[in-house]
Amino acid sequence: MINEKMYGLGDEPSVIRELFAYGLERKAEIGAENVFDYSIGNPSVPAPSLVRETLEELLTLDPVELHAYSPAAGLPPVRQAIADSIARRYGQQATAAHVYMTAGAAAALAASISAVTHPGDEVVVISPYFPEYRTWIEAAGCTVVEVPALQPSFQPDIEALDAAINERTSAVIINSPNNPVGAVYTRQSLEALAALLSRKEAELDRPLYLISDEPYREITYGAEVPWVPSIYPRTLVCYSYSKALSLPGERIGWVYVSDDAEDGDAVAVAVAGAGRALGYVCAPVMLQRVAARCVDEPSDVEAYAQNRRLLTEGLDALGYEYVEPDGAFYLWVKALEPDANAFSERAKGFELLLVPSDSFGCPGWVRLSYCIARDTIERSMPAFAALKESYAA
Ligand code: PLP
Repeated sequence: MINEKMYGLGDEPSVIRELFAYGLERKAEIGAENVFDYSIGNPSVPAPSLVRETLEELLTLDPVELHAYSPAAGLPPVRQAIADSIARRYGQQATAAHVYMTAGAAAALAASISAVTHPGDEVVVISPYFPEYRTWIEAAGCTVVEVPALQPSFQPDIEALDAAINERTSAVIINSPNNPVGAVYTRQSLEALAALLSRKEAELDRPLYLISDEPYREITYGAEVPWVPSIYPRTLVCYSYSKALSLPGERIGWVYVSDDAEDGDAVAVAVAGAGRALGYVCAPVMLQRVAARCVDEPSDVEAYAQNRRLLTEGLDALGYEYVEPDGAFYLWVKALEPDANAFSERAKGFELLLVPSDSFGCPGWVRLSYCIARDTIERSMPAFAALKESYAA
């Protein structure tokens, strides 16, 4: 008999992917230039040329060696290169033994969650949040506890987190720069969160892990993105090159378990064990080498900065309300009616594909991915105007 839970996951694509698939169909019907697809976070800037150069060089190596399995946690020189980069960039005494290479942030998160929880535990997420967190938390047999962020800043609500953390809590997941709202958590917020977790650890007499999901770390518009392990030692950083180097389909990232965590050595081993239990074997091996080579390669943020300016100025002129994003490439826009699904459906009538906010655990908004062609943003403005107008009628 099939597992109904797994059937459900396979049968119900995420709202984002469903809208993306609808967009593909619609583009085939009426022409790609007539659909304004703000659905998915596929980076619109090309990967840096160093990625291609590295891949070309790799293809000249002995293929037997090149394509062989790596050790489960990754190739030792690759893990060392990541640890060295962490040390250089954040002043953290990082060791290669605490770096575990993964197939993107998704695998990093799934392994981290499994490593620090037991079935029946609770994992706290700050809403709105990346919907796949629920999938990974529930797959580990745990329960999701949603704690709304403060509005309008979308910083963590420390008092609400205080009320939510109890003797069943194992971990809190944070994501800054944030998908979907674009908020970047301030040092002050992170310090307040760290103080809370330390107090709760003492009160509850159990470790509380902070899982910091950081695929957008490099994509900011001037805001500081503090290094979380230097603020709270019991942190697992889940990093990815999907957005930083525009390689989402190549599946490469890592988990770094802070060397300063009291039980960090054991947690790093448990992350490797969780990866083994999940059947990951090892991260894509050519991409591990690319990651090591591109470890300090800067992200091309300029195109996103321009899109952000264009989109926010256009929506300002039309009177839409949104959260000013400090990072990532998403705009969180207030729906023009309380039901975000109905608003998203109505937007489709104007060929605007906007993701409704309910699946992010927060009603009444839509998410716009602006990692798209600049020209699409420009041409979509009359559609936004007509959508707004349709509510005035
Ligand atoms: N976490 C967040 C907040 C994301 O937005 C994404 C992808 O969009 C992921 C994790 C997964 O990223 P990856 O492609 O590295 O698995």
